[in-house]
Amino acid sequence: MSDTPTPLAETFRRLIRSTGPISLAHFMAESNARYYASRDPLGADGDFVTAPEISQMFGELIGLWLADMWIRADSPLPVAYVELGPGRGTLARDALRAAKRYDLDPEVHFVEGSPALRKLQQEAVPHAQFHGDLATLPDDRALLIVGNEFLDALPVRQLVRAAEGWRERMVGLDGDSFIYLAGAQPMDAAVPSEWRAGRQGTIIETSPAAASVVAEIAGRLAAQGGCALLVDYGHTDLRAGSTMQAVRAHRKVDPFAAPGEADITAHVDFATLAKIAQAHGVTWMGTPTQGEWLKALGIETRAEALAIRAPHQRADVMAARDRLAADDQMGHLFKVMGLAAPGWPHGFGFEQE
Ligand code: SAH
Repeated sequence: MSDTPTPLAETFRRLIRSTGPISLAHFMAESNARYYASRDPLGADGDFVTAPEISQMFGELIGLWLADMWIRADSPLPVAYVELGPGRGTLARDALRAAKRYDLDPEVHFVEGSPALRKLQQEAVPHAQFHGDLATLPDDRALLIVGNEFLDALPVRQLVRAAEGWRERMVGLDGDSFIYLAGAQPMDAAVPSEWRAGRQGTIIETSPAAASVVAEIAGRLAAQGGCALLVDYGHTDLRAGSTMQAVRAHRKVDPFAAPGEADITAHVDFATLAKIAQAHGVTWMGTPTQGEWLKALGIETRAEALAIRAPHQRADVMAARDRLAADDQMGHLFKVMGLAAPGWPHGFGFEQE
C-alpha cells in the first residue's frame, strides 16, 4: 500500500494549517488534477456521462462540420485536428471517421493532463500526439480545434463582497472541516465597475484559466488559420453568483467533502470568452444552444438514417437524440461557441447577422 497517495484533503489541511487559507482556484485546480490523473470518470459506471458517450451522432456531426469548414476554406494542408481534454477519445474517433469521408484526414493532437485518460485516448486514436497544454501545439499549420466539457473543469476564482469590501473567496478550516472565508487582501480593484456596489454576500466568479485558453486558441487561429468549437454548459449573459458544483456517481456532492474524489466544475461564462476571442483577432460566430446547433446540422436526419439501418435500435437512437438536443435535457443548458480565423468561412449552424 506504500504507493497509495495521501488523501488530498489531508494535504490541504496541512497546507492551510501551516500557511493559512488557500484560494478556491487553488483548491479546485489541485482537486481536479488529482481526480482526473488516476481514473476514467466517464460513463454509466463512472461519475458523469458526456455527449460523445451518449451517441456517435455527436462526434460525427462535429466531424462533418469541421470537414465543411475546411473544404470551404479551400482545403489547406497541412492541417491538424486538436482536441482539448478528449476524455476516452470517443468524440475524436467519431469526428475523424466522419471527416475522412470528405478527404479530411488531419494530424491529431490531444491536450490532456491525465495519464489514465491518455492511455484510453491512444487506444481510440493510435496516431494521436499528446500535449500538456496548448503551448507546444504545431505553429505551422491550420488548426481545427474542439473541446467538449473541457473549459468547465478549469479552476474558477471567486470574489465576495464582504463587510469591508471585495475579497477573494478562500478555503480555510474549522477543526477538520473546510469552510469558505473572505481573504484578507482588498480586491476591489479587480471588480468590474458595474459590480462594485453589489450587496454584501454577492459573489462573482471568473475563470482566468479558461480566459487564457481561449486567448491562446484565438491567437493561434488568427496566426495559423482554422476554426474552433467549444461546447460546454454555461451562460451567454453576465451574471453574479457561484456555479461551482461537484459530481460523484451521477449525484451532486459537497465540493469540500472529498477533494480529488469528485469532479468539480463551474458554468462557463461564454459572454466573457466571446469578448476575449474577438479581442485576439478571430471571428466569433455565435454561441447557440447545443440543441439549436445539432438540429441545424441535421441530427434529425442522422438519427432517422441510423434507425433505418438498425430498426431494433430505433428507440435507443431517438432517446439519444433527445438527450443531446431536447431543451429539457442537454439541448438548452449546453452551448456551442464557434470561432473562425479571419478569411475562413462562416460555420454552418451559426446564424449570420
Ligand atoms: N471531452 C471529453 C471529456 C470531458 S472531461 C468528453 O466529452 O467525454 C474533461 C477532460 O479534460 C478530461 O479528459 C480531463 O482529463 C481533461 N482536463 C481537465 N483539466 C485539464 C487541464 N487543466 N489540462 C489538460 N486536460 C484537462
